[in-house]
Amino acid sequence: MDTYDCIVIGGGASGLVSAARLSRAGRRVLVLEAADRLGGCIHTWRPRADFWLELGAHTAYNSYAPLLEALADRGRLGDLLTREKLGYRFFEKDGATTSPMKRLSFLEAALSIPFGIGKAKAGRDVAEWFGGLLGKGNYRRLLSPAFAAVLSQSADAFPAEWLFRRKPRMKAAPRKYTFPGGLQGLLEALAEGAPFETRVGVPVQSLARTGAGFGVGTDGGEIGCRQVVLAVPVDAAASLLAPAYPDLARPLAAYPMSSSEALGVVLDAERTKLPAVAGLIGADDDFFSVVTRDPVPHDGLRGFTFHFRPGRLEREGKIARAARVLGVAPTDFIHVRETLNRLPAPGVEHPRRMAELDARLAGEPLALVGNYLNGLSIGDCAERAVSETDRLLSSPGK
Ligand SMILES: Cc1cc2nc3c(=O)[nH]c(=O)nc-3n(C[C@H](O)[C@H](O)[C@H](O)COP(=O)(O)OP(=O)(O)OC[C@H]3O[C@@H](n4cnc5c(N)ncnc54)[C@H](O)[C@@H]3O)c2cc1C
Repeated sequence: MDTYDCIVIGGGASGLVSAARLSRAGRRVLVLEAADRLGGCIHTWRPRADFWLELGAHTAYNSYAPLLEALADRGRLGDLLTREKLGYRFFEKDGATTSPMKRLSFLEAALSIPFGIGKAKAGRDVAEWFGGLLGKGNYRRLLSPAFAAVLSQSADAFPAEWLFRRKPRMKAAPRKYTFPGGLQGLLEALAEGAPFETRVGVPVQSLARTGAGFGVGTDGGEIGCRQVVLAVPVDAAASLLAPAYPDLARPLAAYPMSSSEALGVVLDAERTKLPAVAGLIGADDDFFSVVTRDPVPHDGLRGFTFHFRPGRLEREGKIARAARVLGVAPTDFIHVRETLNRLPAPGVEHPRRMAELDARLAGEPLALVGNYLNGLSIGDCAERAVSETDRLLSSPGK
C-alpha cells in the first residue's frame, strides 16, 4: 500500500491551501479530488479559448492572506488580475436598474445606529444584528436582498459573527482580484509544479482508521497515510466520517445545506444595452443575483451568470428570464451553461456547535477544513486551513 504523510480529500480552496502549507513544512502530501477539475465552488467555465466566466465564486480580496501566501510560494503573485471598480445595482420589477442607496432611509439609519452599534454579534442572526444597526426597514429593503445576492441564499438566519470578519490585508496584492483564466486558474496555479501530488477524478469512497493512521479507500484501492485533511462539503464529510468518527459525523449530518442554480450566458457585447456593472441584485425575483464578467472586460463578448433560486424555473424558463433581463432574444446567447451550486446554510447555533467539534478533534490526526466551520468566503476557508494544518504540524509524534 502506497503511504503518504498526509492525504487531503477535496481539491477546493480549503484543500489546496492545506496541501500547500503541509508540503511547505516538508510533509509528503497527496490531494484527491472527486471531480475532473480542481476548484469546487470556484468554478470557471471556459466556453472558448479567449473567454471565461465564473459559475461559482468570482471575487477574491487581498485579505485572503493564506491563499496569497500559497500563490507567492509558487511565484505567481504577479499574475493576479485587478478587477475593475464596478458596483452592484438592484434589478427592479419594471426592468429598471437602481442604485442600492435609493433603498436606504438615512433617517431610519440615523435613528437606529446609536442603539445597534455596540451590540455583540455572537448569538445574533444577520437579520437581528444588521436590522438593529440600520433599522428593520433598511434591512428588509436593502440589506436582506443584497446579502442574499452575495451568499446565493437568504442570509437572514445566518450567524452575524460569520459575516464580514476583518482580516489583515496583503498590501502587495490588488484589493479585489481574479486570475488569468478566472479564479479557478488561481487554484490550478497552486497545484502546478507544487511539492504535493494531485489526482483529479478520484472520489474517496471510505475513510478507515488503521494502526499507523488511515486507509483512504478509492476505486483504485486503498491508500495509506498518517494524517488526513478532510476538505469536502459538510454532507460529504459527514458520510466519510460516520464509520470511524460517528461523534464527529452526527452534528455534520444535521447541518443544513442550501442550493442555487447557476445559468451562465455569453453574447456579443453590442447586443445588450445593460451598462457595465459588477452584478445585479434580484429583489423578490427568480434570481438572487447576476454576476458579470464586466470587471474584467473582454473586447467583443460579455458574460453573465444568473444565480437562480432553486426549483423555480426549468432551463428554458431561465434562458427566457436571462434574455428579458438583458433586453435580448434567447437566440442572441452564443454559449449557455447550467450548473448547481451548494453551500452550507448555518444558523446562529453553528459557531458554538463547530467549537464543540473542534474540542473533539483536539489530538486527532484528522483535520476538518471547509466553508461550514467559520464562514463561507474563500478567505474564511483559507484561515481555517491555516489553523487546522498548524494543529496537525504541531501534534506530537506526527
Ligand atoms: C455561487 C457562489 C458564489 C461565491 N462567491 C464567492 C466570492 O465571490 N468570494 C468568496 O470569497 N467566496 C465565494 N463563495 C464561497 C466560496 O467559493 C466557497 O465557500 C469556498 O470556495 C469553498 O471551498 P472549499 O474548498 O471549502 O469547498 P468546495 O469548494 O466545496 O470544495 C470541496 C471539494 O471536495 C470535492 N469532494 C467532495 N466529495 C469528495 C470525495 N468523496 N472525494 C474527493 N473529493 C471530494 C468536491 O468535488 C470539491 O471540489 C461563493 C460560493 C458560491 C457557491
